[in-house]
Amino acid sequence: MEEVRVFPLTCAVQNYAWGKVGLSSEVAKLLVGGDPLAVIDDGKPYAELWMGAHPKGDAEIKDNRISQRTLGEWITHNPASLGSKVKDTFQGQLPFLFKVLSVNTALSIQAHPNRELAAKLHAQFPEHYPDNNHKPEMAIALTRFQGLCGFRPVEEILGFMTFVPEFRALVGNAAAEELQCSVGDAVRVGGALKKCFTRMMNCEKKMFVDKLNMLVKRITEEAAAGHETSSSHGELLLRLHSQYPGDIGCFSIYFLNHMVLEPGEAMFLGANEPHAYLSGDCMECMACSDNTVRAGLTPKYIDVNTLCEMLNYSPAPASAKIFPSAPDPSDPFVTLYDPHIPDFTVMKIQVPAAVKQYTVAPLDCAGILLVIEGDATATSAAAHSDIALCRGTVLFVSANESVSLHVESQAGMTMYRACCLL
Ligand SMILES: [Zn+2]
Repeated sequence: MEEVRVFPLTCAVQNYAWGKVGLSSEVAKLLVGGDPLAVIDDGKPYAELWMGAHPKGDAEIKDNRISQRTLGEWITHNPASLGSKVKDTFQGQLPFLFKVLSVNTALSIQAHPNRELAAKLHAQFPEHYPDNNHKPEMAIALTRFQGLCGFRPVEEILGFMTFVPEFRALVGNAAAEELQCSVGDAVRVGGALKKCFTRMMNCEKKMFVDKLNMLVKRITEEAAAGHETSSSHGELLLRLHSQYPGDIGCFSIYFLNHMVLEPGEAMFLGANEPHAYLSGDCMECMACSDNTVRAGLTPKYIDVNTLCEMLNYSPAPASAKIFPSAPDPSDPFVTLYDPHIPDFTVMKIQVPAAVKQYTVAPLDCAGILLVIEGDATATSAAAHSDIALCRGTVLFVSANESVSLHVESQAGMTMYRACCLL
């Protein structure tokens, strides 16, 4: 029998409390699409779908003629499937974890260390930093997706210091004035911003809880009186406070850009970039690591010193934080999201309605393909038999294998593919 190198996966679901509940979750909808027998509990959050070989959520192989049960076990027995460059560069491991996220309430504000800092933190505090790898991440919106990313332009932060005295009080006048005086001097701005953020993060709990309660009361009263509260970012502040009352992270919205991504728009979270996911559904791809340094909106451990030291304090507008996608020169139906890191690239494949035969091109690396919309019959020299593709199907495609699709849906197909182009 031919060796099977293309096969469907049943992927792990994570029911974290912040996830969208029941069938309002894209994760739950994809689960039902991929497996009509899947039972969705209306009261349960469906936060993440993990498409990869991570030990905490290794995908199961949906082909009982293959002797290994999971993708991770199969790759261990078939490392050549990764492609020779990936196999050598990443020690025989799939370098990325591909996910779908459905976010109902905010995830913690965080940043991820670069490789050098990750190795140092892991050596010093293995209980908080479980491995020595970096963790760049990319989020691509499936529905309107909100997040926080990177420090705002200084003029915006100074504006909030004027309109939100409760915020200015946490930063303190000396640091606020230093920031004011640094405007226009790129070298001084970073240092002044670091001082302001560090002051706020080191405030005593009683102080910031009092200021937050004052701010919430003021905005609530202003809104009740019919006044505009956008100069205090009132709507977002009240929303985060309702999710994380008394949390210092509520004030971080005055430092960080509020991102609103439309479907297909992306943000890339490189090393040391402060970020948070607030709401919506997205594709996410990341290097395999769990190293996260948190800054608020969380009941978990916050390592304030490490966080304040490591962050990228280069202010930039929200528009500069949208990651530019690019058309693939070799395929008119593919859009590339290709960050400048070796670990992963994401492709969005949109087959138009008029096209009925489409080939998922061979690459010299392994990849994972998720069908978001559309139906097709897939054939491959490396599959046992035809594979029916529909919304929610996840395929593992080994290096150098192609997959031919006979598209059956009237409206074309939308798929996302994660791979590693070295
Ligand atoms: Zn992150």
